[in-house]
Amino acid sequence: MPLQITIQESGMIWEAKTIRGAAAAIIGDEYLSAKDIGAEWDLRLAAAKKLAAQAKKNGCKVEIYDCRKGVLSDEKEASEELSNKIRIRVENDRVFLLSLVKAGIIKISERKDTYFLRYHQKWGVLENSAGALQCCSNCLHRIYDKNIVCPVYNTEKEQNDGTDCNSYTVYPGSYVDEYQGGTYLDILKDNTVDELIEKVGQLWMVDGGQPKESE
Ligand code: SF4
Repeated sequence: MPLQITIQESGMIWEAKTIRGAAAAIIGDEYLSAKDIGAEWDLRLAAAKKLAAQAKKNGCKVEIYDCRKGVLSDEKEASEELSNKIRIRVENDRVFLLSLVKAGIIKISERKDTYFLRYHQKWGVLENSAGALQCCSNCLHRIYDKNIVCPVYNTEKEQNDGTDCNSYTVYPGSYVDEYQGGTYLDILKDNTVDELIEKVGQLWMVDGGQPKESE
């Protein structure tokens, strides 16, 4: 499958064929049946709180953050002696996963022929469109499935749906069947995690012609 997620503390490795599946490896299977993006956000926040509690036990200061809402955790909970500070972000699946990579909680490898979390020039094209191109018709999952039913959400989708989709993935122009093995690369091979958060992690949602606030 395109993504391999390693939980650093336990060494456990998960495989996922969508961004949403990768998030479910951390959050739990209930994430896959979340009924809408609001329910997904609530589940990411709950998972972030659990991860924060664990990280605090290991001596880290933890901040839970959404660029549209600000800091969601109580920073005063952290004591002065705590040396490390990590930030878990919950805006969407991509930035959630990348913030966990940055925090050292997980490591992610991705197949050489996919660009779910690695940078491809099509992410730049999307950003330059201020999000207008983030739609089902430009998403790898829709194209790969060649069907009006999105295989990630298992619901019928119109061509222009997907503007607020957490699992949208650029279609790079070629895609090898995910079950044929392949070469995996650390997603940090060519970009820093901060670059990936900036270039790949954002949702460029269009709201009245303006991209929504980003960090
Ligand atoms: S809803 Fe649309 S944008 Fe989201 S994963 Fe499905 S096809 Fe892609």
